[in-house]
Order: sequence, then structure tokens, then C-alpha cells
Amino acid sequence: MNIWGDDRVSKRLGTRDKQVLYLNAKKRCENCGKKIDFIDMEVGCKNQAYSLGGRTTLANSLCLCHGCKKRQGTDSWATFQKKQGKQDSKTTIKKSLQSLSITQLKNLAQKHKVTVEGSLVYDFFETRRKAPTKSQYINKLASVVTEKEISSV
Ligand SMILES: [Zn+2]
Repeated sequence: MNIWGDDRVSKRLGTRDKQVLYLNAKKRCENCGKKIDFIDMEVGCKNQAYSLGGRTTLANSLCLCHGCKKRQGTDSWATFQKKQGKQDSKTTIKKSLQSLSITQLKNLAQKHKVTVEGSLVYDFFETRRKAPTKSQYINKLASVVTEKEISSV
């Protein structure tokens, strides 16, 4: 909210916000990962497109390349990801990993040389690391393993 009580400050992000967005995205399109120049950056919407009443704030913005912005259209980020089949495959992999035992997950992690660290516990006398939980393994493994590999465990 600004002093005029208007949430929708301006139709577009200001240059400074755009720069922050660009740097936060590590100068890459947040959809396809392509490296883009600042002048070629397009601002996409995370939740709702401005034309559908969405707010133009930094939190609602994405750094996109021209092609991805065009493909996203007025879709929300989640819908856009779903349409590309992105979220789905990762969700399926996570589901399959869920059915494995912690020992099987550990073996998979070792095979892929993925280090999964448990959270730190601050005791009165010492700081120790807890054994990683199942979901910590799953989150790390979801991006490296394939569906086929899981079924052959
Ligand atoms: Zn892109």
C-alpha cells in the first residue's frame, strides 16, 4: 500500500525493482534458465497477470526471457509450469521416492554422490547433526534421480 491507499502502484515495475528481480534470478530466465541481458528481460507474473487484476509487485514478478513470457501469457506460474509438464514429473518422482525406505534412499544418495545433511541441533554442551530425515533425502534426490532408477531399486 502506498500513501494514496492504492496497492497497484504502477502498471509496471520500476527500473530499480527490475534490477533487483534480474539479479535475484542470477541474470537468467526463471523458466528455461537461459542467460538473458537486462534489456531483454520480460517481467512475468507469479500469481495473477496484471490484466486479470494481479498486482505488479516485486514479490509477484518473475524474470523471464521473451519466449517464455509469451508462452506464459496470462497463466499463473503454477499453471504455466503444469502446462509444460514440469511440476508433474518432479511430483511423481517425489511420490515414488516416498515409497522407498530410508536405507534405499541413503544408497541412492551415495550412488549419486549427493550429500544429505541432517539439521543441526544445539545442545547445551555440543552442537551435533541429526541424521537426515526421509523428506530431506527426498528433496535432494528428486532432482537427480529418474523414475526408472527408482523402480529398479
Ligand atoms: Zn525463458
